[in-house]
Formats: sequence, C-alpha cells, structure tokens
Amino acid sequence: MYQTQDYYMYEILEDYQAAADSEQKEEIFSAFCSLIWNHPNQRKISQKTFAFQIEPALLDTDIGRVFASYSALSCPVCSSTTDQTDFASLIRQKVNNIYTNLFDDRICTRKVYLDLLRLPKKLYFQWKKSLITEPADWTMTAQELSLTLQRAVEESCRLKEIYGRQKMKLEWNEFCMVTEGFLRRLFHNYTPLDLYSSGRPSVIRADTWQEDNFCIRYFCSGLNGYFKNYQKKYYGLSNTGGKKKVPYSRCACGNLFQQNRQHNRRLCDACREKARLEKYRRYNQKRQNKTDTP
Ligand SMILES: [Zn+2]
Repeated sequence: MYQTQDYYMYEILEDYQAAADSEQKEEIFSAFCSLIWNHPNQRKISQKTFAFQIEPALLDTDIGRVFASYSALSCPVCSSTTDQTDFASLIRQKVNNIYTNLFDDRICTRKVYLDLLRLPKKLYFQWKKSLITEPADWTMTAQELSLTLQRAVEESCRLKEIYGRQKMKLEWNEFCMVTEGFLRRLFHNYTPLDLYSSGRPSVIRADTWQEDNFCIRYFCSGLNGYFKNYQKKYYGLSNTGGKKKVPYSRCACGNLFQQNRQHNRRLCDACREKARLEKYRRYNQKRQNKTDTP
C-alpha cells in the first residue's frame, strides 16, 4: 500500500506521474483520497451566536426589554478556515468550503444576512453609548426599535430561504464521489512547477515550499473551475468551458439560466413552462365559464 505520510504533495504527484502502470497510479490516487477524506479537518456545523449582555440597570427600561428579546440570535455556521498549513488540511478545507458554498442550504454565509443578525447587538451598543453622550444621538422609541428588529429578523429568514434555494442538491457522499472524479483529472493533468515555468522568463526557484504551494493553488483553482462547470451542467446551461463570457441570472425558484441580449428574461425554463401552463389553464377556465352561463 502506498504511504502518504511525511510526503509533500508534489512528491505524491510526481510518484503518480512516474508510476509504471495504471494499477500503481490507482494505488497512489486512492491513498491520497483516503488521506483527504479521513483528515481530522472534517466539516463541523456549529451555532454562531450574536449574543450580548444587557446591563442589569438598563434591563428595567422599555428599550432595554426590547433588546433583551433579541439578545441571543444565532445561526448555523461551518468553519471556512484552518490554522494548519500542510497540504492535506488545506485541500480538505477547500473541499469543505465548496460543499458549504454550493450545496449546503442550511448555511448562509452572505454578509447581508449576517449583518441583519448582528443588528440588535450593534444598535444596543449605539443606544448604550447615547445614554452617556451629550447631546444623545438616539431617536428611536421602544416601539420603533421593536419594529426595526422584528423586520430585521423577518428579512434574515427571507434571505436565508432565497439563498438556500440557490444551492444545488447533492448529498455529502455523492459530493465526495464527484470531487474524486475532479481530483483524478487534476492528478492526470498536473505539470510540475519547473516544467511549468520553463520557457518563460522566471526568477522562481522551485524549492519544496514553493513547489507545494504551487500544487495546492493548482488544486484549489482547478476544483473551482470544475465545480463552476458542474454548476452550469446542473442547470442545463450550455457553453461549459467556453471562452466567451455568457451572462447568467437567477430565477426566483433558485435556478440559474442564461440571460438574453436585452437582459429582460426573468424566468428559468421550468418556471416559464409552468407559467405557460397556468395561463393556458386560466384561459380554458374562462372559456368554460362562458359556455356554462346560459
Ligand atoms: Zn425558475
């Protein structure tokens, strides 16, 4: 069995390319995959809280009571960074992040969404500060504050639902299979740094650290590209891998579609068909009603 421990990533790739036959290549590739999948840097979902403590003296005011009911908002998150620097941790982190961003509809990483959840805390500290500054720059009544915070929470739910719908559906274990297919292609297409940079004026001297960073960057940007194409195929968009830039838009249902030249298309193919059928149904209903009336 091929052993990956204590190897740099470029060494594994070099072994793969130098392997005598496809059986040996497969052994190296599966050893690399099990290193990534069994890595301790697993996807862990936790609750991020936007909690804050209200000073006891302020808790007994109308505004303080409003803040109290919004002082423990939270949402599920999945860590998107690692403090480890070895290639396996970094590649595994990249894979985790792709799943979070493209497939996991439980997690919303959009700033606009998180800012809404942070609003109560932000306003609380503004209000608290206004109590000791002259002139006080706080104008909201308790009712206005209550309404503002209620709307912020409602809006955050609405956004989470919209962005969740924009994620593709794929279970984690299916995602791993797809990812392995892409990793295999990256193994196959890998060009070492010294070959890559020969032929162009370069001051890069390939030492191990650079070589491994080069590999990691190659894998990360390669996975990005493959998943971008995966997304286009998922939504039935043509021009995968094409050079020409085609504008895409999102339908309200979450599907991506190819935008037209006038930039006025609003529905994806499926919703367009649904709208057409609905129109037809209403038209028939009307006709039916007409013939029914004596
Ligand atoms: Zn649609």
